[in-house]
Order: sequence, then structure tokens, then C-alpha cells
Amino acid sequence: MLGASGAVGQELLQLLEQRAFPVSELRLLASSRSAGTTQSWKGQQLTVQEVSAEAFQGVDLVLASAGGSVSKQWREAIIAAGALMVDNSSAFRMEEGVPLVVPEVNPDAAFGHQGVIANPNCTTILLTLALAPLAARVPMCRVVVSTYQSASGAGARAMEELRDLSQVVLDGGTPESAVLPHSLAFNLFLHNSPLQANSYCEEEMKMVNETRKIMELPDLRFSATCVRVPVLRAHSEAVNVEFEQPFPVDEARSLLAAAPGVELIDRPDDNRFPMPTDVTGRDPIAVGRIRQDISEPNALEFWLCGDQIRKGAALNAIQIAELLISS
Ligand code: NAP
Repeated sequence: MLGASGAVGQELLQLLEQRAFPVSELRLLASSRSAGTTQSWKGQQLTVQEVSAEAFQGVDLVLASAGGSVSKQWREAIIAAGALMVDNSSAFRMEEGVPLVVPEVNPDAAFGHQGVIANPNCTTILLTLALAPLAARVPMCRVVVSTYQSASGAGARAMEELRDLSQVVLDGGTPESAVLPHSLAFNLFLHNSPLQANSYCEEEMKMVNETRKIMELPDLRFSATCVRVPVLRAHSEAVNVEFEQPFPVDEARSLLAAAPGVELIDRPDDNRFPMPTDVTGRDPIAVGRIRQDISEPNALEFWLCGDQIRKGAALNAIQIAELLISS
């Protein structure tokens, strides 16, 4: 595991144990910063090692969550060691020959790998879980999505910063951020990934390009606005999907209720719809507030929440590995 001390790495550790993933030896790798620290796993104390080429010798599977530059740096060494790399970073997602996989959506793609499989962007994983069952029934032609992304999407240190700065505000002080570009305490801001030439940020364009690749819809019209919100963990998304013909709301509700990895929380009578706390630490995404778009007869609106460290990263990566093991 490369990036073992991070937010995704910690979740991977828990899931490997909870899902009884077959492991004969687990190596925890990170940078020199956390080398020498220990993590408990299945009742043992494992020591984190600094990543090196030798650390991949004899390894079958590398679950990487140490960021794009680190994944790029170690890819050759991992492949040379004969291991499969399932990578959580964005480094290889759009590369030809690298499958981009959500097991509930495009499992077959995983089998075409050449040593690397990419785990999609967290918001994209959550979104495609809801889009796939609908698009399988009526072709989809346009998606407009706004995201409400939690601090944990920016890593373990961003979560800590939100906790600390919230206390600063509660104590009457002025919060000063060091990890995120602005204080998230009782605040929100547009996603801070670099702006592209088209004025969309990188995170927004990841959603566009990755959804098209996963769903094999290269011409899908897609627009996203990504926002960071003061939620500790679990992302939310407001989604508008236009189909080639009207999509009855009841049918959409039944399809989503039956879709793998999706839970329906859609109780208009008591105004109860998904919240981040419904999905925190849990596997399924929650979808609700499914309604006809009053401005477009062929479009539906809905809302979803999903734990992006779990299904949006660690769980999805482990499910990819499980898929290959079970074949
Ligand atoms: P994080 O909490 O900041 O953890 C980063 C991990 O990478 C730590 O274990 C860190 O080790 C390690 N690392 C950093 N630089 C390294 C280097 N030069 N060599 C070796 N290890 C190094 O970040 P995260 O949130 O877990 O995210 C990790 C990756 O997953 C990123 O690519 C991110 O985009 C992606 N991702 C994150 C989420 C999410 O919700 N958080 C979701 C989907 C995908 P040290 O402790 O030694 O610094």
C-alpha cells in the first residue's frame, strides 16, 4: 500500500480487514515523513516504510494513494516488479490503455489492463453509480452537476484543519488556513484545483472527461461546478440529467432503488432526503429528491450523497482488485 498514512490509505487498511481481502503480507509505504510510524492491522503492529523500488519486489498488488506525482514516479518500478497497480490519483486516468473502472458500472474494462488500473475521481465514481442504471434504460444526452465536497476530499490534514479552524471561529478568533486555500470553517468556496483555459477548474473537467470514458459516451454534454463545503466527510451532488425522451420519475426511482451500490432515501412526505451523515463510513451512495425538471420535459433532477473516501476511493479500489481475483 503506497500512501498508507493518508486519508485513503487509512480507509484501505480498514477495508482490507473488514472485507477479509486475501493478504499474505502487507507492506505499508509512505514518505520519509511517516516512515517508522506504526499502524495496527488485524491485531499486528505494522511499521510504515519509506517507498523504494525494492519495497515492490515480490508484491502482487499495489494500492496507490500517495498523489499523482508519486504514482508517476513509481509506476515503472511497480510494473517491473510484476505487480498490478490500482491507482487512486489522477495521473493515468485518461491515458489510453489504462482502464478507468467503477465495478458496478464498467467491470469488463478492468480486464484490459496493462499493469495499471485507475480509480476514477471520487465525485465521478459517486455520480456514475446513479447515472448508469438510468442511462441503461433511456439514452442520456446531457448532465449538469453541482458538487458539495467535504474537507476529507483534500486529505487527512484538511479534515484536521476544518476541525481546528471551526474551534477558532467558535472561540471568537480569526481562522487562518494553511492546508486549504481559504478557511472552510463556517464557509465554502469554489474547488481550488487549477482553472483551465475554458474557465472550468481541473476537478470539474475530471468529472466531464472521466464520466465520458467510464460510460463510453465520448460526446456526452456535461457541465460541472465543484464547491468545497464545511462537511468533514462525504460529498453531495445536485444532478440534472437530460435523456433522449421523457423518463417517468417512478421508473427512475425503482431503477435506482434496485441499482448495485445505491440506496434510495426519497421520502417527500416527511421531507427526508440524503445527507452526508447518512453515508459516512458506509459503502452505498444515497440518492433521493428524484423529480421531473420543470424546465425540460426530458430531464430529471436528483440529489446524491456518498462517502468519497470509502466508495469514492478505497472501496472502489478494493472492489477492482476483488473483481480480478474472482475472475
Ligand atoms: P493524504 O491524506 O494527504 O495522504 C497522502 C499519502 O501519500 C500519505 O500517506 C503520504 O505519506 C503519502 N505521500 C505523500 N508524498 C509522498 C512521497 N513523496 N512518497 C511516498 N508517499 C508519499 O491524501 P489522500 O486524501 O489520502 O489522497 C491520496 C490520493 O488519493 C490523492 O491522489 C488523491 O487525489 C486521491 N483521492 C483522494 C480522495 C479523498 O477523498 N481523500 C478520494 C479519491 C482520490 P506521509 O504521511 O509520509 O506524508
